[in-house]
Amino acid sequence: MVKTVSKVTKVSTKKKLVPKEVVNRQKNFKDYLNVFEFLFQLPGSKETVKFKPISIGALKGFLTFEGEVEPLEITRMFDNLFLEVIISPEDFDPINMYVYDRYALLLEIRKKTKGETNQFEMKCPNCKGQSVQSVDFEKIESKPLIDGNYIVQLTEHLSVKMRHMTRLQELEVYEVSEQLKVEQELTKSELDTEVGLLLEAQTIEEIITPDGPQELEFPLFDKKYLLENIPQPLYQSVGKWHEENKFGPDLTVTVNCPHCEFEATEDITDLNFFS
Ligand SMILES: [Zn+2]
Repeated sequence: MVKTVSKVTKVSTKKKLVPKEVVNRQKNFKDYLNVFEFLFQLPGSKETVKFKPISIGALKGFLTFEGEVEPLEITRMFDNLFLEVIISPEDFDPINMYVYDRYALLLEIRKKTKGETNQFEMKCPNCKGQSVQSVDFEKIESKPLIDGNYIVQLTEHLSVKMRHMTRLQELEVYEVSEQLKVEQELTKSELDTEVGLLLEAQTIEEIITPDGPQELEFPLFDKKYLLENIPQPLYQSVGKWHEENKFGPDLTVTVNCPHCEFEATEDITDLNFFS
């Protein structure tokens, strides 16, 4: 034991070879920057993430995007954003975050970068009147992940074990659907339907039969096949599981047109989120 202690002391003396003045200057500099670091506990995995606000440069990159941007494209921009702002330990890989955790973290990053409120202009689809809508991010409620029942019974002999999708699993779906698009020459709406089904299939972790557990996970297309071949009410019970087990912040807001009775629900996770 004594030997180990003396070894450690030796190493730490060696480190002091760096000129004292430089060490001090670095320490002071970091002390000042620390005020721009924030901690946030993800509602799903319960991991604590350390992040810094988005730099002005990166923010400009976001805001100069114009016109229609594909949802997948937006999520890819968020991937890059996470790589830039997350300063968590080396073993934290944002690609393994739950998709719902990503949105919770995005909201936190938005709040620390640009404040607690967001204003945007709305053109009413009903009366065409213009209005300024505002969202108070502090008022958005966030649900924690409830570790409860993951099994959905489909028939007497068939049930599925559900899971919350990670970003990696989501990307796998988009990769597969890119291939489908090329191989089967799907139209945009056909492709959207396929992607929707595949995303849902990806949230099935296991298909459970009386034959006992499978050695290997069923391929994604088998899970999709299952969803396509069960009666509608059973398919809905899978959807109901998602409804009941969803966690994180609700990023839809209700907007009201001040000129007419029009009311709509807006998803705020598009690019306007950071404006
Ligand atoms: Zn209106």
